[in-house]
Amino acid sequence: MNMTIEQNSVLLEVNNLKMHFPVSESIFSKSKTVLKAVDGVSFTINRGETFGLVGESGSVKTTTGKCILGIHNPTDGNIIYNGIDITKLSKNEAKKFLREKQMIFQDPYGSLDPRRSAFTIVKDAIVADGHKIPKGELKDKVNSLLELVELDPVIGTRYPHEMSGGQRQRLGIARALACDPKLIVCDEPVSALDVSIQAQIINLFEELQEKMKLTYLFIAHDLAVVRHISDYVGVTYLGKLVEVTDSRELYKNPLHPYTKALLSAIPLTNYEVERKRNRIMLQGDIPSPINTPTGCPFHPRCIYARKECLTCMPPLREISKGHKVACHIVN
Ligand code: SF4
Repeated sequence: MNMTIEQNSVLLEVNNLKMHFPVSESIFSKSKTVLKAVDGVSFTINRGETFGLVGESGSVKTTTGKCILGIHNPTDGNIIYNGIDITKLSKNEAKKFLREKQMIFQDPYGSLDPRRSAFTIVKDAIVADGHKIPKGELKDKVNSLLELVELDPVIGTRYPHEMSGGQRQRLGIARALACDPKLIVCDEPVSALDVSIQAQIINLFEELQEKMKLTYLFIAHDLAVVRHISDYVGVTYLGKLVEVTDSRELYKNPLHPYTKALLSAIPLTNYEVERKRNRIMLQGDIPSPINTPTGCPFHPRCIYARKECLTCMPPLREISKGHKVACHIVN
């Protein structure tokens, strides 16, 4: 979290983003139905800040990240990056922004070429897209990136399978930093790691943000992971944002029943408090995004659901300054 950056300087604005995918109803059927992976998502991220996107289902979060990176062409809505609507750009115009926006993946092993050494993986990222750097400086640049993510440059001769999970994720981060990005979409970057390593990688993200004035969209499935790194948090459910506010307010005063349930699932370190508190147990699984419930999409699992929840979709409303919630019973 970087509080030294000028506030209210928006780097990314996502407005009513929709990403719908046509899918066949069965392998024998020609009729198509629609999977609403992202269905009207809006948020902004200031320069040097972190927006945490949280929720059980992966599709809305990862698909939003991919739309921001230009991997998907949104069905509707717009994405304003650095003042420019990148959804309206031609492929050539969009190329200018490719290096500025990078992604860090959940599974660094799957995203790193197993036939290339750590040194070559970072070097390839530096010179990608014809990016010029004097030959003599290339080795120094690779080594300084490895050091930046706290990897000893001697590791440069190793291949991904010879490295630990934490080292591979650090290498993935070094590769993303090779492009001097402004915005990094971190897609569940610690969920495949041991708990002891998770904290180290989160600390590294924070240090790098401070040093390099980075802006993060930080995707995670549980609220515990994004708690310390996020300035703002958006809670997602079935393609929509159901609650958005600043991080401190969300953990102190969660308002949406789904957010409350997610928070109550985080184990507390104090055994006595943990033993006495009431857990909100969610019933059932998230419905399929192909067949979303009518009204409030959370109603089949919500213990507070009432008649209007079954038919009427609650809009995302501002309840107090900067705290938005999509729920009929929250005032
Ligand atoms: Fe529950 Fe109704 Fe609020 Fe949806 S709108 S979260 S069903 S109370």
